[in-house]
Amino acid sequence: MSKIRQIEVFYVSIPMPALFYPAWIPGYPQKDSSFAVIRVLTEDGIEGFSTAPVFGKEHKVVTQLIGPSLMGEDATNIPAILQRIREVAYLGFRNYWIEPAFWDIKGKKEGKPLCELLGGRPVKVKLCAQSVDMKNSTERIKELESLYENGFRSVKIKVHHLDEKQDVEQIVGTAKAMQGKMNLHVDANQGWRMDMFSKAPLWDLDRAKRFSDVCANAGLLSLEEPLPMDEYDDLCELTKYSRIPIAGGEMHSSGFPEIKMMIERKCYSVFTPDVITSGGVLQVWKMIELIKKHNLRYSAHSFLNGISFAANLQVIAASGFAETEELAYPFAPPAWTTDVNDRILEEPFNIVNGYVDTPALPGLGIRVNKKVLRKHGTRIGIMNANRRVVFSLQNYGIKSSLIMDKAIKERRESFQ
Ligand SMILES: [Mg+2]
Repeated sequence: MSKIRQIEVFYVSIPMPALFYPAWIPGYPQKDSSFAVIRVLTEDGIEGFSTAPVFGKEHKVVTQLIGPSLMGEDATNIPAILQRIREVAYLGFRNYWIEPAFWDIKGKKEGKPLCELLGGRPVKVKLCAQSVDMKNSTERIKELESLYENGFRSVKIKVHHLDEKQDVEQIVGTAKAMQGKMNLHVDANQGWRMDMFSKAPLWDLDRAKRFSDVCANAGLLSLEEPLPMDEYDDLCELTKYSRIPIAGGEMHSSGFPEIKMMIERKCYSVFTPDVITSGGVLQVWKMIELIKKHNLRYSAHSFLNGISFAANLQVIAASGFAETEELAYPFAPPAWTTDVNDRILEEPFNIVNGYVDTPALPGLGIRVNKKVLRKHGTRIGIMNANRRVVFSLQNYGIKSSLIMDKAIKERRESFQ
């Protein structure tokens, strides 16, 4: 047992060397890579980390929402941690992103990397370089040639034009130039469609079918998120219709129950859950087991920073899919570079010819760089035993606090 002593949440913002416009948020000029980091400390001196995408400092509420009920719990009892997360998820606060931090602790306690905790071993994993912005075919070919020079042989490019013809122009032109040199995938980012700045395209089944035909004729290997993530009926029909695999599943914050239904209905032929944004390690592992049972494919998504990349890398390494599938790797210089992606780590991942070795260090296999966390991060929330007492007294008063403490103590003793 490793009892939880303290949790802290940081808001981190790493400046990027150049501005870029994410394809999935038209009109948004991004200048920093911003994310939340959770640090969980145990009474026996182990620390675990995880991370989440952010709009701003919204994750400051995590320490108050879940923190009090986590104090004193066993950090290595993942099902119990999930139950705590689920209790506030009913209210709309889905914080499964914190769950990998507890696997980090469990691995460090047992001296094993996460992939070994899941029954696998550290293996070499092929990466699919993931572009982040919009380009025409001339610009895209130039980008891909540079990726090719850097050793990548698989790439996922973005389409997100209002005008369908511009998407077709990019795909056909790029495929013609790069066919035979690289595996080409395309991502339409319709799953998490954002229309808050410039107008974003909204695909329907007809457009998705037409575009899947274009991709199939051009020799692309998969089409990702061509429809909104909850258009289940249309996704089923498209997956049946398409001559190339339809992929998706990176951002389903309700986790296993939804993806289970989507697997059983065959909404996609390639499922791409991300352990940060699709329910945490345990739920993604259950998805992978079901994906195997239904003879479908799992290919890991990752897009945020070195911590999220590490967690997804450990899971695909253990999954048995690493020999045939790839892990997405955001790489789009001059804005999104390896340095930006991995700045939060003490040692950046060593990408050689488009492959990466799964680290054998315990837990998620990485060391978070505390200097970077201090320099680029602000602690926006903290909870520990003392703060929990103050929190409880302020919110519930002495009498109720004592009754609740007694109930928690009895519950823990009854399960020991
Ligand atoms: Mg995607």
